[in-house]
Amino acid sequence: MHKNFKGVEKTVFGRGSFDQLGDILAPHRTGENPYMVFLVDAYFNGKPLESRVPAQNNDLVYYISVEEHEPTTEQIDTLRDEILAKQGLPAGVVGIGGGSIMDIAKALSLMLTNEGSSTLYQGLNLIKKPGVYHVGVPTISGTGAEVSMTAVLTGPEKKLGLKCEWTVFDQIVLDPDLIATVPRDWWFYTGMDTYIHCVESENGQFNNAYSHAFAEQSLALCREIFSKGQTPETDEKLMVASLMGGLSLTYSEVGVCHALSYGLSKILGTRHCYANCLIMNHLDDYYPEGVAEFKQFVAQHNITLPQNLSAEWDDDTITKMAEVSYNLPHMWNHAIGYDWKNTITMDVLKDLFRRL
Ligand code: NAD
Ligand code: ZN
Repeated sequence: MHKNFKGVEKTVFGRGSFDQLGDILAPHRTGENPYMVFLVDAYFNGKPLESRVPAQNNDLVYYISVEEHEPTTEQIDTLRDEILAKQGLPAGVVGIGGGSIMDIAKALSLMLTNEGSSTLYQGLNLIKKPGVYHVGVPTISGTGAEVSMTAVLTGPEKKLGLKCEWTVFDQIVLDPDLIATVPRDWWFYTGMDTYIHCVESENGQFNNAYSHAFAEQSLALCREIFSKGQTPETDEKLMVASLMGGLSLTYSEVGVCHALSYGLSKILGTRHCYANCLIMNHLDDYYPEGVAEFKQFVAQHNITLPQNLSAEWDDDTITKMAEVSYNLPHMWNHAIGYDWKNTITMDVLKDLFRRL
């Protein structure tokens, strides 16, 4: 079966486009309770952007810190219950932040209309009803969360997305000015997520002319961005590269780095983009050209990736990470082939984790 997906309905791109947000939301302030919920990365609390958030009288504005942990099912359930108890069903949800805030906005939109805990809906097409209107405004680029059809949540049992067509944003606002303040290390890790999405999307059996065209352009942009560094001009390009890398993997698949990264994140809580960088550094056997270029970017930007992390991990921890990775057959099917179990065994995976 070929993938048949819904895309983001409306996209605005350009410097200063954030100031159009009020006008964009206006026609959606309808129904009995025409208020909006803004979910803003706590980084912007007290920063100039705060006064530019187009909140009106009854709107709710939450500043959410994403420093402590990645989005959780409990966090979404609590937020949903609080909002519904306070003001009832809103007309829309707007997420202003990175991959974490965008996933929170997508998940909240769905959970406002679907009863029970978000843990019930972690997986593919488990959501029963469309969510409320939702808008994504990225402030750090690379994950592709702005165009993806999943909202990744960590629950008591699994780290898995609420994945369905209704997850996709109705509107995204891509304003390159918003990513100017991203610290250099985050700029690198999150930007590298895009680069890795493209390398993995390209190297596997599900790659096709459609996914390839997005990856090819995104890789060209990444090469320019990571040879020049963080400038207003490269920020514009990074926003586009992130989106195209996200589209490429949507119509192909991610591979070895993401399969291992999920294991590391699930068991130790390591953040997605950083975990990918730690792992990519050791995947010469699988992506020799991509890894060589990745290492050049690391060296050029003086990024320090710690070594010998696995010295601290006991066999039980490594086995658990390997189990999470092994249970992602769609990624292995793509990266290695349908006969992947002949070469990718638990021992191979444990050895890969021991390289970290
Ligand atoms: P993030 O949202 O976790 O933010 C990283 C850091 O950058 C935070 O400290 C944040 O406060 C800060 N920050 C954000 N914007 C800033 C700005 N303009 N200036 C200064 N600081 C800023 O970062 P991320 O890497 O974009 O997202 C990672 C999350 O995305 C993970 O939770 C991961 O699971 C998720 N993810 C989702 C998808 C998807 O398709 N839904 C794909 C990949 C990753
Ligand atoms: Zn990724």
